[in-house]
Amino acid sequence: MIGLFTLCFMLFFPYAVHNLQHRTDKEIRGWLDELINVFKAEGQKGLEEEFSWQAHALGAGNICQSLLDSSGRVLFTSDIQHWKELPLDLNLLNHAAGQSKPVYATVTIPGFNSKVRVAYLRLSKDRILRIALLLRQDENFLFGLQRALIVTMAVILSGVILAGWIMLQQVIGRVVAVTNTALSISSSSLDKRVPVSRREDEMDRLARAFNGMLDRIGSLVKGQQEVTDNVAHDLKMPLTRIRVIAESVLTNPGEKGNLEEVMSTIIEETDRLLEMINTTLEIRAIEAGSAVLDFSEINLADVIRQAVELFQFVAEDKDISLQVSNLVPFPVHADLRRLQRVFANLIDNAVKYTSKGGKVEIIMRIDHQEAAVDISDTGIGISAEAMPRIFERFYRGDKSRSTSGLGLGLSLAESIIKAHDGKITVQSVPGHGSTFTVILRGTPS
Ligand code: ADP
Repeated sequence: MIGLFTLCFMLFFPYAVHNLQHRTDKEIRGWLDELINVFKAEGQKGLEEEFSWQAHALGAGNICQSLLDSSGRVLFTSDIQHWKELPLDLNLLNHAAGQSKPVYATVTIPGFNSKVRVAYLRLSKDRILRIALLLRQDENFLFGLQRALIVTMAVILSGVILAGWIMLQQVIGRVVAVTNTALSISSSSLDKRVPVSRREDEMDRLARAFNGMLDRIGSLVKGQQEVTDNVAHDLKMPLTRIRVIAESVLTNPGEKGNLEEVMSTIIEETDRLLEMINTTLEIRAIEAGSAVLDFSEINLADVIRQAVELFQFVAEDKDISLQVSNLVPFPVHADLRRLQRVFANLIDNAVKYTSKGGKVEIIMRIDHQEAAVDISDTGIGISAEAMPRIFERFYRGDKSRSTSGLGLGLSLAESIIKAHDGKITVQSVPGHGSTFTVILRGTPS
């Protein structure tokens, strides 16, 4: 900004100086022409009168008109008193004598506080006219102009600096608000947010991004807390049961006869705990890519058929119709054991969350190189709040945790399908049922 102003100043000022000099020269040229006309009409006498009239009009100290011979000797002049020190420039004189146009120069005269513009013009073969004009007015004007430009520049610059400072203070104030919010945040006060103005500028974007990040951290922390609560709950129940049974055998000698039953309950509960731990470790390993998947060429239709057969008895038990349709051979490059777990989990859920007399249907659709397997049920459905969370580890729709399950089935299924470059999606209408769809790419034939 300062550079720009200085540049404007540096360009404009010489331009003004040049223009002013051009105007002065034109004015002098006009007087010279007039003097020539007078000389032609009235001779030297007329010239003398014109000299004194001009000196009178402009002030003898401001203008000096002289008639010189070709050697530079002054034949007569309008003023001798003020202009004693006016130097004779023989070079200019000779130059002027050789042409019909005036020759100009700016000179400094000792004792004069302004510069002087001097012009020489040939009047006749051996006569030269000389006009010397004091540039006081021009210099005053330039000085005024220079002062006005500097003042204007100073005012504009101070305005710019002040506006910049105010803006900087505002930005700093808003950055401080973000910093203070960041400093005041802890896991227990994640609800704080940076104030957002309505300016919609970069600071607002920063504040919004920061608040958005806090929202995400907040929901992550909340999710983590819920997972911790769920895990604690899921661990507590079997451990409590094991302890109660073991304690009752110890304190109640009569229970010793039921030792076999007690042991099998303990094994059952520890198996449940082990399954929980192992499944969690397996999901983690598959997601991290450290699990070794046993890939081979398998027929997807066979995997589905076997999974359906596995749950046929359970479904019948609940009076649920479990049907499969459109099974066509479809080769996939997959880990057989893990794919079996995916379909077993999904069919298990469909049967588990469907009440007596309901229906579970598995339909296979082939589209180009992809197979889509729909597992639909007429069960309880999934609420809108639960929908985004059902694939989270340890999430269970049943808050009381009275139905069997670990809250890990869908999480495991999703991690396995993703490891096979596939997709698992869900659609559900609460109270009417759900459809889980597994999409897998086939082996190119
Ligand atoms: P869980 O062991 O609880 O079944 P999952 O990970 O398999 O754990 O499922 C997570 C949650 O998703 C379940 O607790 C349930 O609320 C919901 N869910 C899964 N499948 C179905 C389904 N077919 N119908 C209704 N809700 C389902």
